[in-house]
Parts: sequence; C-alpha cells; structure tokens
Amino acid sequence: MNFETEAIRTQIDRTDFQEHSSPLYLTSSFVFEDAEDMRASFSEEKQRNIYSRFTNPNTSEFVEKICKMEEAEAGYAFATGMSAVFSTFAALLDSGDHIVSARSVFGSTHTLFTKFLPKWNITTSYFKIDEVDTVESLITPNTKVIYAESPTNPGVDILDLEKLGAIAKKHDLILIIDNCFATPYLQNPIKFGADLVIHSATKLIDGQGRVLGGVTVGKADLIREIYLFSRNTGPALSPFNAWVLSKSLETLAIRVDRHCENALKVAEFLETHEQVNWVKYPFLKSHPQYEIAKKQMKLGGNIVSFEVKGGIDAGRKFLNAIKLCSLSANLGDTRTIVTHPASTTHSKLSVEDREQVGITDGMVRISLGLESVEDLVADLKQALINER
Ligand SMILES: *Cc1c(COP(=O)(O)O)cnc(C)c1O
Repeated sequence: MNFETEAIRTQIDRTDFQEHSSPLYLTSSFVFEDAEDMRASFSEEKQRNIYSRFTNPNTSEFVEKICKMEEAEAGYAFATGMSAVFSTFAALLDSGDHIVSARSVFGSTHTLFTKFLPKWNITTSYFKIDEVDTVESLITPNTKVIYAESPTNPGVDILDLEKLGAIAKKHDLILIIDNCFATPYLQNPIKFGADLVIHSATKLIDGQGRVLGGVTVGKADLIREIYLFSRNTGPALSPFNAWVLSKSLETLAIRVDRHCENALKVAEFLETHEQVNWVKYPFLKSHPQYEIAKKQMKLGGNIVSFEVKGGIDAGRKFLNAIKLCSLSANLGDTRTIVTHPASTTHSKLSVEDREQVGITDGMVRISLGLESVEDLVADLKQALINER
C-alpha cells in the first residue's frame, strides 16, 4: 500500500474493547501464563512482550511504521535521536574500529566522534560534503562504517547517497545515514544502499515540538545487535512518547508537504531581497547540488539557510528584529524557528572551522513551520529592513 495508507493503517492488534485508535500501554512489564510460558518467552522461542525496556506494544507500532516508510527489515526505538546514534555505534563497533564521516554532522554527533568514541579507541576521519570522491582515500583496513546526513545542518548541503552506497558496497562497509532532515516521506536512503537509517523523531516526525524520540531501522542482522545492546543498557523510548509519535506519523505526509511548500516560497522571496547575499534550499535551481537533491528527495525539506549582508552583527540584529518567528534551538516544529549559528550553536568554532561546514558570519537558518506563509514573509521582510 501507499505511504499515507501505511502511516494511518499500521496498528497493533485491537483489544476486546474494539477501540478504533491504538490505546496507550503504560506498563513496565507483562505477565506470563505459567513457568513454561515464561521460559519460552525468555529463550525467545516465543515472540512476545516481556518488559518495556525490551519491547512494548506502542514502541512496536511506531517502529513498524518507520520500517514500512523506510522499506527497512527491522528497527528499534530510542528515548532520543542521540541515544539512537550512540547506541548504534556502541552496538556495532569494537575497540580499534574506524569511521569515515561527513564533516557536517549534528553537533552532538560530532562531539561523540571527537570526545567520547576515542575513549574506546574508535577514531573518525572526515570528508567535505562536496568531496564524496575523497571518501575512498580515507578508508583504512580497520574502517567499519561510513556515516553521513543529507540535507546537512545548518548548511543545507546535499550529499550523493547513491555514490556513498556504491562505495560502502565496494568496500563492504556499513553505511549509516541520519535521515532526520528529510524524514522518511522525502527520502529513503536504503534505496540508495544505506544499511541503517537513523532518525531523531523529536523533529518533523513529532512535528509539534512536544516529545523527544529516536529510531534506527535497517538490516535485520545489524538491528539484532543494536537490540541486544539496547535491551541491556536501557535507552528505550517510553510507551507514551511512542504513542504520540505513532499518531504524528499519521499526518507526516500532509504536514511535510506544507512545510516544504512554505520553505520553497520563503526561499524564493529571500532570493529576490537586496539585503540577502545568498539563499540555500535544495529545490532552488541555484543550489549547488540541485540535481542530486531532485534525484534523491521528493521535495526540498523545511530548512532554508541564507546570509544577511553585514556579517555577525547583521545576523544578530536580524534575530532581534524578528517578531513572529521563534528564536529556539529546535527545528521541525509547527512554529517557524530562526537561528544564527555563528553567534550561538557554532560560536565556539573558529571562522575557518565554521567555513569548513558551510557556516558564514551572517548566515541565518530558518526551520519553516506551518503558519500562513504570507505572515512569515511579512515578518522576515520587516526584520530585513529593521536590521539595517
Ligand atoms: C536533533 C538531531 C539529532 C539528535 O536528536 P535528539 O532527539 O535531539 O537527541 C540527531 N541528528 C540530527 C540531524 C538532528 O537534527
């Protein structure tokens, strides 16, 4: 069946109450018929819920939906996107292993690579987003994983997933894609050769700024390792958050369609504004990787980045002049959010390091929400005038 139908009609079995909408199973554990039932369940001869750190009906429904959307064999749901990223690496990597990663990755993922994984003698080499051709030169005999995000944060660059998939296959490496910015509706990395796909469900999957969550889906043998690690270490998603997220998936397609429509209109408006140096949005013809974006994405996503003329000061003044949009660290909310990476999230980096990941001093990132696009354009327009 089609994406929207799967998103709405994938449900756990009804109870005797014949409820129409899936109920919430707030229970830490499940009961057994007798000693034999308990033995068979623990030895995994029987597939059933034992304890909600392992599985729970609500998390199972959420995972099953994401698997259908990403055309994945299996998955496991986590308390946050970062617990999905960390647990995936911790389950699959051994001391001495090596990762080849895109340079522009989510901030906490970068910290994981530079500060924490080295504690277990796991090292990382980086390639620039427009230098996928250099990936092969970074591969060493102990390389196990290629890791990337597309579109990237906050630069909104696009990475050629098909090329990465071919390199991973040729060298027998595990390709892991953080698909958070695209959502399963806009892009399915498994089709291009990814072995595992990670989502922070906190962003567009929830889409309403309410709950944290994460999920990893992909090849069944890899997910089995991730499951065994997670059932013993405890990063599981709460049943309540799983229930919220599974409901959110019912409206993912219709929401993301509108997010993308608003983003494209705002990007087109900004491109014509004299106070703006440049605009980056995957589905603008001026985007350096427009052709690749068209090949691998259904629509351009909800993130637009642009540069106001006048550097750091102009960026800060622009933020101060904003009236309707929120200044917040989140993204993928119904409410439009504006950030200035150079003075906030990436202020600790040197100018050169910032430029390596595509962040210039006057760069602003907008996460388009679902408000009327006329009101959003009016807010941006007045802020561009008043920042001068
Ligand atoms: C937010 C985000 C994460 C982390 O997710 P949390 O749910 O906040 O832990 C990971 N990757 C990307 C691309 C993100 O945007």
